[in-house]
Amino acid sequence: MSTNDSGGVSFGVDGETQLILDSLDEFVAQEVEPIVDELGDVYTNPRKGHREDGRWTDELLEAREEIRRRSAEAGFYAMNLPEDIGGEDVSPVTWYRAKKHLASHGPGMARYVLAGPEGPKPLLLQAEGDQVERYLEPTVRAEKSTAFAQTEPGAGSDSPNMETTARKEGDEWVLDGRKQWITNAPYADFVQLFARTTPQEEVGRYGGITCFIVEREEYELGSFNNAVGSVGSQAEIVLNDVRVPEERVLGDVDGAFYAAMEFLSLGRLELGAEAVGYSEFLLEEVTEYVTEREAFGRSIGDFQQVSAKLARGKAKTYAADAAGLKLAWKMAQDERTVMDSSVLKWFATNVMWEVADAAVQVNGANGLAEENPYMDLLHQARILRIVEGTDEIQLNTIAKSMGVMD
Ligand SMILES: Cc1cc2nc3c(=O)[nH]c(=O)nc-3n(C[C@H](O)[C@H](O)[C@H](O)COP(=O)(O)OP(=O)(O)OC[C@H]3O[C@@H](n4cnc5c(N)ncnc54)[C@H](O)[C@@H]3O)c2cc1C
Repeated sequence: MSTNDSGGVSFGVDGETQLILDSLDEFVAQEVEPIVDELGDVYTNPRKGHREDGRWTDELLEAREEIRRRSAEAGFYAMNLPEDIGGEDVSPVTWYRAKKHLASHGPGMARYVLAGPEGPKPLLLQAEGDQVERYLEPTVRAEKSTAFAQTEPGAGSDSPNMETTARKEGDEWVLDGRKQWITNAPYADFVQLFARTTPQEEVGRYGGITCFIVEREEYELGSFNNAVGSVGSQAEIVLNDVRVPEERVLGDVDGAFYAAMEFLSLGRLELGAEAVGYSEFLLEEVTEYVTEREAFGRSIGDFQQVSAKLARGKAKTYAADAAGLKLAWKMAQDERTVMDSSVLKWFATNVMWEVADAAVQVNGANGLAEENPYMDLLHQARILRIVEGTDEIQLNTIAKSMGVMD
């Protein structure tokens, strides 16, 4: 065996991925930044980017749509999806690196360059027949946007306990219930909505749930669910006897929960990549600041209480990135990744929280200033620790994988 043998693991960036990362930088500079510049304070001042009812202004929404469309045309937007439906089939490792790379330049509209909650996810790959042309392909091309509607007032982490139901009447399904905190619900062309179709008593906790495609004009929008740091993005969906044809079932009747579980790792990989990228951005910003800012006759980075915060953040970000790469690598090998994805999601988002908190602290009052990105990223970290499985749910999954919990 050669001493240079990498044992099948490579942390280096391959040529094709590097080309994609460089092209993304060029794309952001040439296509995204001019759009953001034109928006001016409609983007930078949250009070100007929202209407009184909480909705984004038309300018802001149109800017997002323009970025998505241009990115799809350039081949970036859904490049992790298969080529036959308009993706580029890039590996999870490249997708992880691309998501992280964009975040490492800081928060901003560049996040819409790569498909997020409004874009196509593997669940939508179950589309069949007319669904492919009507929903899947236009979403991959970023001509339509979507949402994933699972959470309800009475069921968040415990989502199989959902109360939204769908009953079959002739060749239609009739939907009743209420969803909340649904990202992009106010702007989506259609949502992928989960409803109970067979009682738990008959099919068990995870069976009996079906995913329906419901178009925007078919559902009613309830109140906005405005999280600090994400105003105008989430809202309630209200369903009162909503009738959809049977061709709107996405995937198998009663099989949606199992299908969604298969794709959990990808969502966690993406959130982990963002958390690592934002942590890298924060560390870079703060390193520059503490070496320049002086107090008591020296740069504040010379104070051990300041430098230790940064060193801890660096070490943990490094470890989170390694966890992200390992998860992506295992996904590329089609290995089981339930535990790995929980490790990344829990660890990377908590690291980002710690790094953002340190960034606020070492910047003093400037850390709290609205025009600086630190409090915004602190809020984003808080959001990331709750969505797509809270901290506690991730730790439960890890404990279960260890056999210490049922
Ligand atoms: C900005 C934002 C965007 C969102 N986007 C979407 C979306 O697009 N689609 C969607 O369907 N949902 C979305 N959500 C909802 C999100 O997925 C839920 O908020 C999340 O799953 C937690 O559910 P919950 O808020 O009902 O909290 P609960 O489930 O009620 O949990 C409350 C607390 O109890 C803890 N807890 C619950 N069960 C356990 C347990 N077994 N062990 C230990 N602790 C436990 C939780 O960890 C948490 O700390 C979004 C939420 C936010 C804030």
